[in-house]
Amino acid sequence: MIFALLFLSSSSLAGQSFEDNSPPDLLKDFAILREKINRNPRDVASLNSMGIIYAKSGRLDDAVRLWKYALDIDPRYIHLYNNLGSALKQLGRRSEARLIFQTGLQLSNSYWIYYNLGLLEKEEGNVVAASNCFKRCLQINPSFQQATRKLAELGHNVQLPAMDKTVKPMTLGSYKPPVAFGNIDLYPLYPNGSWPENQAKQNYPSIYGKGGKNNLKGSFTPLTVASCSEIIKNFKASAKDKYIALTFDDGPHGTYTPQILDILNKNAVKATFFIVGTRAETYPEIVSQASQAGHAIGNHSWGHKSLAKLSTLAGLESLNKTNELISGLTGTTCYIVRPPFGHTSQRVKQMIHKQGWHEIMWDSDSRDWENKNPDHILFKVMKSIAPGSIILFHDIHPGAAGMLQTLITACKNNGYRFITIPELIEIAAGTS
Ligand SMILES: [Zn+2]
Repeated sequence: MIFALLFLSSSSLAGQSFEDNSPPDLLKDFAILREKINRNPRDVASLNSMGIIYAKSGRLDDAVRLWKYALDIDPRYIHLYNNLGSALKQLGRRSEARLIFQTGLQLSNSYWIYYNLGLLEKEEGNVVAASNCFKRCLQINPSFQQATRKLAELGHNVQLPAMDKTVKPMTLGSYKPPVAFGNIDLYPLYPNGSWPENQAKQNYPSIYGKGGKNNLKGSFTPLTVASCSEIIKNFKASAKDKYIALTFDDGPHGTYTPQILDILNKNAVKATFFIVGTRAETYPEIVSQASQAGHAIGNHSWGHKSLAKLSTLAGLESLNKTNELISGLTGTTCYIVRPPFGHTSQRVKQMIHKQGWHEIMWDSDSRDWENKNPDHILFKVMKSIAPGSIILFHDIHPGAAGMLQTLITACKNNGYRFITIPELIEIAAGTS
């Protein structure tokens, strides 16, 4: 079989190191995709993603072969034209690249392909052809700022991005949920009428263990829809303040993100995904699908490096590159940023706000990367949830998918709705 020859040996990708709680490395994606392709050798989305893994590990020729093979299976899979054309261009095979882009455009009026073809023409010095490509791009998607910028570079008198005028920068530091938490009395909400840590240790000794460390051996009683409802119904919130925002960081992941999307979509719940650029590049289809289903896509940087440690220039480059990818995949302009690891500073905030973007943190942390047991994750969430909460999950870990249905049902039973971060910002700005 063709891809049996192409598969990388494990060692060729080894040697990468990531901090805890960082996106999984190429090897893990490689393993997931290999399994999927083994099960279904004609799974074009996975073949597309696998090609990206090859490209990222420096094996562009193999990527090209894989994408061509995938195109034979499904010549209508539009991402392949983009990827294949870009790889060919990078390999210096420009006329082949042009042909691939043009073929893609016959199938789909993709402004993203027009953009890439425009870049190729611009690099070749074909100013008129390049201008026409960028203009087509803007006809299809007038808010595609990159094309506007390129037209300006080619000497066209164009209106430069309007985003800075339409989105008001937040000036008060990090975005905080609009609902005050002061009225929430946690004590009566938990079993035996008392919450704080010592009581929690009595109620859930198996989680806390003797030394207060997490330990799930023993008799831990998972929370159910009924027990979650007991907690939620004691929240004091007027009907209009009964909302929760679910956020998922670090993805997309080839297995867990689709699982989460399934649950959300079945329940007609909208959430926000703070994606990492390098991962979205590997799983473009998942980002497009999430956006089409009405979920919001946020920027979690290109490579998940701490913005507090990067220079302003490098930080902005990482965020801009990710925003461009999001635009390409969703057709929308992204203006919400969650700094990796939640690392921020005055300088990072300023850098984000100056672009007209919002810095988005969270106030309920599922810590789903630390303990992957869904019952424990639900427990963590219920401990910190309140009306207006922004809950933090990670869709690169398996736990959230296991508890999401219980959380959603309990919240809905109590009249809570789920909103995205852009909706939350509108509420905070009083425009909704
Ligand atoms: Zn993260």
